[in-house]
Amino acid sequence: MSLQEAIQKFRGQFRGAVHEPGDAGYEEARKVYNAMIDRKPRLIAECTDVADVIAAVRMAKANDLPVSVRCGGHNAAGLGVCDDGIVIDLARINYVRVDPSSRTVQVGGGCKWRDVDHAAHVFGLAVPSGIISSTGVAGLTLGGGIGHLARKYGLTIDNLLSVDMVLADGSFVVANTEENPDLFWAIRGGGGNFGIVTSFLFEGQPVHTVCAGPMLWNLEDAADVMKWYREFITQAPEEMNGFVAMMTVPPGAPFPVELHFRKMCAIVWCYQGSMEQANAILEPIRSYRRPAFEFFAPMPFPVLQSMFDPIYPAGLQWYWKSDFFKDLSDAAIQKHLEHASTLPTWQSTMHLYPVNGKVNRMSETDTAFAYRDAVWSGVIVGVDPDPANRERITSWARAYYDALHPFGAGGAYVNFMMEEGGDRIRATYRGNYDRLAAVKAKYDPNNFFRVNQNIRPATSGDASM
Ligand SMILES: Cc1cc2nc3c(=O)[nH]c(=O)nc-3n(C[C@H](O)[C@H](O)[C@H](O)COP(=O)(O)OP(=O)(O)OC[C@H]3O[C@@H](n4cnc5c(N)ncnc54)[C@H](O)[C@@H]3O)c2cc1C
Repeated sequence: MSLQEAIQKFRGQFRGAVHEPGDAGYEEARKVYNAMIDRKPRLIAECTDVADVIAAVRMAKANDLPVSVRCGGHNAAGLGVCDDGIVIDLARINYVRVDPSSRTVQVGGGCKWRDVDHAAHVFGLAVPSGIISSTGVAGLTLGGGIGHLARKYGLTIDNLLSVDMVLADGSFVVANTEENPDLFWAIRGGGGNFGIVTSFLFEGQPVHTVCAGPMLWNLEDAADVMKWYREFITQAPEEMNGFVAMMTVPPGAPFPVELHFRKMCAIVWCYQGSMEQANAILEPIRSYRRPAFEFFAPMPFPVLQSMFDPIYPAGLQWYWKSDFFKDLSDAAIQKHLEHASTLPTWQSTMHLYPVNGKVNRMSETDTAFAYRDAVWSGVIVGVDPDPANRERITSWARAYYDALHPFGAGGAYVNFMMEEGGDRIRATYRGNYDRLAAVKAKYDPNNFFRVNQNIRPATSGDASM
């Protein structure tokens, strides 16, 4: 049977939409969040249920088509889309079911975080995730998941109870601590290497209203603020989260006009408690270096989760580099200041997210996420709408990274990486890499799922087998 005939047959078995080059919906359907990525798949299969996912896997296998799996399409390296293969898109599998009695949240494999935030909030629950609500649940979770609740409740994977998956051979499995525990270990940080998650079961955390928002300081104060912050964030109550941003003030509300486009240092806080308690905890920094502006107030958690969405719509040019850090030395702070003063465009930024507290209380081998001893996950992001600025934002991010990398812990968070090669992936998984390669050999021996931060299946000659 020719590929064209196979696609015709597949269309008959598949309930969702199928797009091929030349179809009306194809150009829109092949886009991902990062407009730098321009890949042309042979087929895009928008699945509606598990049966569709199984049909798409079998179709790809039978026809030897490369496979990429897409949830939110946010991956900056564009790993949700491939050239000349099949995109298995789960975005239509976007149900959320909250069970308030067991405090669990069942989430379809194609949901965005805003779907979860919305559905869980009415029950006074939240699942720890990231800081932009249009990000996909699947990609973020499978890489780890770092966000505003990390110090108190850990990474997203630390709140994951069970998954439903379709494997490379088209079979369906459940993975949790009881069933297929090796697979469950691997998917908590190992990305999309092991199969397609069609459903996640999370523990919901009791988070409703938080006191949150940014404080901004002029760059002249940034060194003092960062020196204060590095001590503060390692000792602060875990209910208090705060990430540092080197940023340009957006040209809009709530920022005062005189600050628009000014390069500044920010800390974005999220406190789970009363405003009175938050103010007491933050009094030392307010009296030490008074913020030039702050927008810190009680708000429903989903409001915080979507606060930065308007700054980062889909369709921008996006390039980033990342490292984990165990400390923030005076010399590193100096490098931050040098590169923050040359932020190339107003949407470009650098974020240092704390990954201590609960994240550090898991051991390096409890899940595939290996940097349980890091204090921060840093990311340097070059962003701009204009493709003409691609080189400018890329070279700025690389130069900033080159300056900071010597201060780093060695590896980076997989979800903040471009396609950076096998050595970088090994550095990220450290001692867990060989165990991951063995799990990969068991569940995906032919590396069917390879459009990802790829873990190569161990072979019988490897010491780990
Ligand atoms: C604006 C922005 C903000 C971000 N903020 C944060 C943050 O605060 N915290 C954080 O931790 N990360 C953050 N990230 C990084 C984010 O976690 C990654 O980009 C992640 O890959 C996005 O997931 P996605 O589902 O949207 O990606 P997609 O591009 O859809 O998929 C990425 C990869 O995930 C895998 N995958 C997708 N769906 C499935 C599935 N159902 N089953 C198996 N594998 C699948 C595939 O291997 C695919 O290659 C941010 C990214 C952006 C662009």
